[in-house]
Amino acid sequence: MARKISIFGATGSIGTSTLDLIRRDRANYDVVALSGAGNIALLAAQAKEFHAEIAVTAYAEKLDDLRTALAGTGIEVAAGADAIAEAAARPVSWGMSAIVGAAGLRASLALASHGGILALANKESMVCAGDLLLATCARHGTRLLPVDSEHSALFQALNGEDRQAVRRLILTASGGPFKDFSLEQMRKVTPEQAEKHPTWSMGQRISIDSASMFNKALEVIEAKYLFDCAAGQIEVVVHPQAIIHSMVEFIDHTVISQMSSPDMRGAIGYALHWPARAANPIPPLDFSSLDALGFSSPDESRFPALRLAREALEMGGHAGAVFNGAKEAALDAFTARRIGFLDMAVLVEKALHNRQIESIRDQSQATLATVQEADAAARNIVNENI
Ligand code: NAD
Ligand code: MG
Repeated sequence: MARKISIFGATGSIGTSTLDLIRRDRANYDVVALSGAGNIALLAAQAKEFHAEIAVTAYAEKLDDLRTALAGTGIEVAAGADAIAEAAARPVSWGMSAIVGAAGLRASLALASHGGILALANKESMVCAGDLLLATCARHGTRLLPVDSEHSALFQALNGEDRQAVRRLILTASGGPFKDFSLEQMRKVTPEQAEKHPTWSMGQRISIDSASMFNKALEVIEAKYLFDCAAGQIEVVVHPQAIIHSMVEFIDHTVISQMSSPDMRGAIGYALHWPARAANPIPPLDFSSLDALGFSSPDESRFPALRLAREALEMGGHAGAVFNGAKEAALDAFTARRIGFLDMAVLVEKALHNRQIESIRDQSQATLATVQEADAAARNIVNENI
């Protein structure tokens, strides 16, 4: 029987890579919902190609365009954040959460309620609401599979291992385009320079987050929730070739790593076929032509995001939502050229330590509403400080 699946953020980098895998094995899948935002032509083309039950755009003002594009197909259309959450509540056995940013949280929570598999690319859900998302999965018997390449690597390295025997989780980072820039050079970089990633092809926002290492910072927080370890057990190592996607060191000092070409279809395919392995179109590694693999420690004076992530982890409560909300607002300001590249971390630090939002930040019981409140408060602090 075909497997019922939905993809939220279908028109993005992860979404199109997911559909590329589905396309190769079309008969085995029954697509329920697809979502996008501004690219209506692509969303409509995907909905038609995969005979989706419903196509949803995040933007209310795009609903008429979507309706016109899908007229006569019998495919339902809808728009807005509530419509995305409602579409994500339609039963599926495999759901991909690949909207970018905290805007993806409601889809993640709804997909976590089906008792099937939640393939989580949207790391911001885990950063903002780790406890809430894990509790939702536990309540419904949903299996969460990480799609972030580092966390997929850790998940694979931990397969069948005793968690008590883990010494360190070592997240690899490519280092981004400014790995060797001086602080003076980093001060002047433009959004166009920041979004050109040397090894991975990704959406604009995550590419800029990779350049500032805010992406790795989010991943440190994501790893803490996913693998239930102490913050001090998570390390980051710069590995520019992006062949080793992460490593686990055990108490006997054995290190198990996962390697493959830097192509997200690897991690997506793993989550799609888990617990089995299946053929994947990513290029195989050719060890005879691989250059040496390099490793170095990240420079936290140029990349303060990692220190800030550890501070957020120590604070606990809603600090992850504050951290991410502030980071998203700072990224918006950087892409709008209202602030410089290095100002992003300065603003996130201000939000994280802001006394006015301390009580929201330190709340321990999380609901969607409290997470959204912390997210909004952090964005306000950033915007007030620009
Ligand atoms: P992208 O920008 O290419 O795509 C984002 C998707 O979200 C698009 O479908 C877009 O239409 C939709 N979207 C944008 N704003 C929205 C909103 N406000 N409401 C609803 N939908 C909205 O991003 P991406 O690179 O595919 O990343 C998606 C997620 O996966 C992010 O959380 C990212 O951190 C994570 N991720 C991506 C990669 C990668 O290689 N691209 C790797 C690891 C994790
Ligand atoms: Mg990653």
